[in-house]
Amino acid sequence: MVIKLERDVAAYGGIVSVAQLLALKHWRQNIDLAVHYGTLVRVRKGWVASPEVPKPILMAWRIGGTLACASAVQYHLGMDIAEPLHVLVPSNATGFRRPHDHRARLAEGDAVIHWAGTPEGGRDLVVPLGEALRQAARCRGPGASRGIPSRAGDTL
Ligand SMILES: [Zn+2]
Repeated sequence: MVIKLERDVAAYGGIVSVAQLLALKHWRQNIDLAVHYGTLVRVRKGWVASPEVPKPILMAWRIGGTLACASAVQYHLGMDIAEPLHVLVPSNATGFRRPHDHRARLAEGDAVIHWAGTPEGGRDLVVPLGEALRQAARCRGPGASRGIPSRAGDTL
């Protein structure tokens, strides 16, 4: 049963809503047990993930969206990902959480929020590199310039 649970979480890309798992006929008790034993990680209310999902992606999802902008560029280039994270959220998103604590509301300076143009935006786990570079070039948030590779002699 646990193996099937892990397989189904992986099939959703590593982060899945509890509602989706219940729809696949998993028992809530088994999901809670998997979280208790560390087979799954609780990301935020109603969401669980595989512990193998990279931490910055989990943190962005905990905040309420997708790793974006400078943070996504750093992720794609294999760089250390600086905080505050830049996160793309759906246009109707609410209830943002702190990146390290799903029980606490997002505080000033915890993240740079980028709003998607639609409710469907911000549903991937990481914004693709090309889009992330465009976001970073326009972003005025702290650390945005770290997402723009600079050539020698360029001044930012
Ligand atoms: Zn940004």
